[in-house]
Amino acid sequence: MKRLILLGGGHAHVHVLEALAGRALPGCEVVLVSPHARQIYSGMLPGWIAGHYPIEACALDLARLAADAGVRFVQAAGEGLDAAGRALACNDGTQLDYDLLSIDTGSRTCFEAIAGAAEHALPVRPIECFVGAIEALLSRCREARDNPVTIIGGGVAAVELAFAIHHRLAGEGVSPVLSVIGDAGLPLDGLARRLQWKCLQMLSERGIQWHAGSRVAALDGTHAVLSDGTRIPAGYALLVTGASAPLWPAGSGLALDPEGFVRVAPTLQSVSHPGVFAAGDVAAYADQRPKSGVFAVRAGPVLADNLRRAVQGEPLAEWRPQRRALYLVATGGRYALGAWGPLGWWGGWVWRWKDHIDRSFMRRFGNSHVG
Ligand SMILES: Cc1cc2nc3c(=O)[nH]c(=O)nc-3n(C[C@H](O)[C@H](O)[C@H](O)COP(=O)(O)OP(=O)(O)OC[C@H]3O[C@@H](n4cnc5c(N)ncnc54)[C@H](O)[C@@H]3O)c2cc1C
Repeated sequence: MKRLILLGGGHAHVHVLEALAGRALPGCEVVLVSPHARQIYSGMLPGWIAGHYPIEACALDLARLAADAGVRFVQAAGEGLDAAGRALACNDGTQLDYDLLSIDTGSRTCFEAIAGAAEHALPVRPIECFVGAIEALLSRCREARDNPVTIIGGGVAAVELAFAIHHRLAGEGVSPVLSVIGDAGLPLDGLARRLQWKCLQMLSERGIQWHAGSRVAALDGTHAVLSDGTRIPAGYALLVTGASAPLWPAGSGLALDPEGFVRVAPTLQSVSHPGVFAAGDVAAYADQRPKSGVFAVRAGPVLADNLRRAVQGEPLAEWRPQRRALYLVATGGRYALGAWGPLGWWGGWVWRWKDHIDRSFMRRFGNSHVG
């Protein structure tokens, strides 16, 4: 009997579970290893904070998806991999040998680069920790006056969270003092220019201060200290600084890119170890793509197909990721910005479109709370 381990219950692996529920893999034991029995869907997280969804509507039940697929569920985190010896060590002491390993463990928020971040900031990842800490963060936002809560990072997730926190507190009658510190000139770096200007205008209308072109070097509990020495008032920070590589693959023997992500061929197979596959944020694709849920989702069906082919000893298919992804950026209320390449648009209808996509995704994977 062969063994396939699915490490992490990310966006690509829920597709693999769905495929296995439809068609089992004879002669192969499949094991899902995940530290949590549920997977929070990040696309709906800002909507949960804003008050549009209960948390149950934003969670996929991994344990149930695994059971439906005939997959053994081990609730633990992988923390050590011996790629040459085909062995995975988990943080609960479980040791698992494998014939095939598929990694979809996402990325982490790096806080080591900012001195004082461990004491004065909350990282958005791991998302379960963020979810557990949100009430304390909101309390800080309610109380902050001279030293606002600042969101560090100017990308889609940072901006959505800033708008969501503002919307939630404004609904309580609180005028939150919030700021966003980004290292680019405009928020939503890389998206359509007119969308960036619209976003800046909306931040300013809500009194959320945007600090452009600023790289934070340290947090001291009252200020964010930029690399040029400038001090920006910040009593506490939410770190949304983009996707950094997890630390555990470093000693595994797997080929990694310079940032520490697992290098994969177009087949999603590790370039160094053919028995290992990776998809989602943790993977460094041959055709480089932004770390975004869209690409993790799109890789899922190809990964599912290739894992089956690999178990059966068949030739693998190649994944050519689309060049562009659709971005729908929620702005707190039932309103959103949208971008496709150089095109940008906004409105209530964009939020309803995003809501429809998100709910359909959750329903597809068995969420009955989403309505
Ligand atoms: C607030 C927010 C909003 C976002 N909105 C969007 C959006 O609208 N559109 C978009 O495209 N992208 C969005 N993103 C980015 C998106 O979340 C990621 O690109 C996406 O989650 C990557 O998916 P993934 O499958 O690689 O990993 P993840 O979704 O992060 O899933 C990884 C899973 O692996 C588990 N795991 C982690 N470490 C281990 C381990 N050592 N062992 C076992 N399991 C482990 C985790 O618990 C998790 O369940 C957003 C991000 C944030 C933070």
